[in-house]
Amino acid sequence: MTAKIINGKAIAVELRQEIAREVEQLVSAGKPRPGLATVLIGENPASQTYVRAKRKACAQVGIESFSYELPATVSQEKVEELIRRLNDDPKIHGILVQLPLPAGIDGERVLRAVSIEKDVDGFHPINIGRLAQKGREPLFVPCTPAGCIELLKRAGAKLDGANAVVIGRSNIVGMPVALLLVRENATTTICHSHTRDLPGTCRKADVLIAAIGRPEMIRGDWIKPGAYVIDVGINRIEDSTRKRGYRLVGDVAFDEAVDVAGAITPVPGGVGPMTIAGLLRNTLRSAKRSQV
Ligand code: NAD
Repeated sequence: MTAKIINGKAIAVELRQEIAREVEQLVSAGKPRPGLATVLIGENPASQTYVRAKRKACAQVGIESFSYELPATVSQEKVEELIRRLNDDPKIHGILVQLPLPAGIDGERVLRAVSIEKDVDGFHPINIGRLAQKGREPLFVPCTPAGCIELLKRAGAKLDGANAVVIGRSNIVGMPVALLLVRENATTTICHSHTRDLPGTCRKADVLIAAIGRPEMIRGDWIKPGAYVIDVGINRIEDSTRKRGYRLVGDVAFDEAVDVAGAITPVPGGVGPMTIAGLLRNTLRSAKRSQV
């Protein structure tokens, strides 16, 4: 079998076009333009790159972005003061605090300070708590997990009653994606570094989501024939044939998995582009919600 490749890049382009159209409709109707504040603390190069990409994506769909950059030495109080100011600013509909935060800043306190109405990353404990509870709706769903579900649905996966296995239980990806799968009525198993017989558990999965951060750990013979495989991992491995000296691979050994799975996301070009599209969509939703 050769798996269908789930093209996250193309799907994200479609989503961005839809978002851009909706932003224009909103603005032409005389409503304020959606606004996203990005908060970057310190000089982590990867974080700088991510924030730049998010601001550029905002500009492309007509969302205004407001950039706040603070030195790594900033005090906890100053960060929280900024967040409170952004919470009160009507031009700002979403606040994105780029993670990870430098040592010395209590990330939990910072994330809790973001108003749940502007928590477009969906990381506020109240939003996550609502995601976990039956009959309660979060105001925002975290972007990468939402992107995984969207890709599965667009690829035609039947989630209701499916055996879903998520590898990884982080607050950012593994746990919220597992909660979303439960909401979709999938029978969901969460695996992590203490799981016994990971290959055997994976082999039972109709839907397999890998969010580990270990290059090509999931081998082809761990995959149930025909399964839907979503590879969230982004790992750099050395590659002297590339100009930059490395290439990106996922958590799944793609070349092996592609012969067994029914559908699979590539890395890059799978889940990654969906994350920013999700952020834009959440910001648009927040702006619309603030005007009702
Ligand atoms: P994390 O380090 O917070 O969590 C990793 C999880 O993997 C943990 O829950 C851990 O228990 C589990 N794990 C580690 N070793 C394991 C093992 N040997 N067997 C089974 N489970 C094991 O990472 P994260 O933030 O959830 O990110 C995971 C991966 O996804 C990373 O490669 C990251 O770069 C990528 N990521 C991609 C996007 C995107 O595509 N937009 C967004 C976020 C994260």
